[in-house]
Amino acid sequence: MIETLLAALFGLLIGSFLNVVIHRWPNDLSVVQPRSKCPACNQLIAWYDNIPVLSYLLLRGRCRDCHARISPRYLLVELLTGAFFAHFVWHFGISLEALRGCLLSAILIALIFTDLESRILPDELTLGGLLVGLMLACVLPVAETTAHAMASMAGLDWNSRALSIAEAVLGMLLPSGALWMAGVLYQKLRHVDGLGLGDVKMLAMIGAFLGLRPTLLTLIAGSVLGSVVGLIYLRWTKSDPATYALPLGTFLGIGGLAVLMYGRGVIDWYAGML
Ligand SMILES: [Zn+2]
Repeated sequence: MIETLLAALFGLLIGSFLNVVIHRWPNDLSVVQPRSKCPACNQLIAWYDNIPVLSYLLLRGRCRDCHARISPRYLLVELLTGAFFAHFVWHFGISLEALRGCLLSAILIALIFTDLESRILPDELTLGGLLVGLMLACVLPVAETTAHAMASMAGLDWNSRALSIAEAVLGMLLPSGALWMAGVLYQKLRHVDGLGLGDVKMLAMIGAFLGLRPTLLTLIAGSVLGSVVGLIYLRWTKSDPATYALPLGTFLGIGGLAVLMYGRGVIDWYAGML
């Protein structure tokens, strides 16, 4: 219980850091220097106005000096990160399994908002996260079975670490490869850029953490959700579809978080139907 509470508090702090990342990395700014300022009046933000959640509520979402509105995204990112960290530590205790969930959820939360606000998926998060996912696969087996089934069929007798790394590599290459080919095809047919490479790198990163089937599920969930929400948005705002850029990364991030929480159940249910 006390671990879950501490994980929630730690998640709030990480969420506070993610807010800085979301604001600065798309603009190639450092997240270490300088200290945070109000974007409206440039006043340095005091430490006591920078406490996760509490400061936002006490200041009622406004700058202490100029009373400019602070985006509710700051509160949302902190609460989401705190909730996910608490969830994983509650389920897995203080363990590498919990660490995997916390790391991937934090990276996805940051990407959801950089893509939504700036249409940018920073390499620090996608490629950096991909490296972290591969390193984790070396010490904590990816609990997926595709690599295992393929190795058995090929008559290979691999140990659990080799299977885990193979699963991470399958998850990294296949769904992102399919997305990349779909983008190239779209470009050939329509002669416009339909897809950023950031989305491909992001999906590869998710694959390194989760293995093949959950990443395919993420791609399907993200694409369907993105299409539905995108169409509703275009109808609602009467925007021009030719100039509207759908933040696919945002929807892949939401899909990834859903799969991280419920993917195991969906995959088992589907396997049971076959
Ligand atoms: Zn201000």
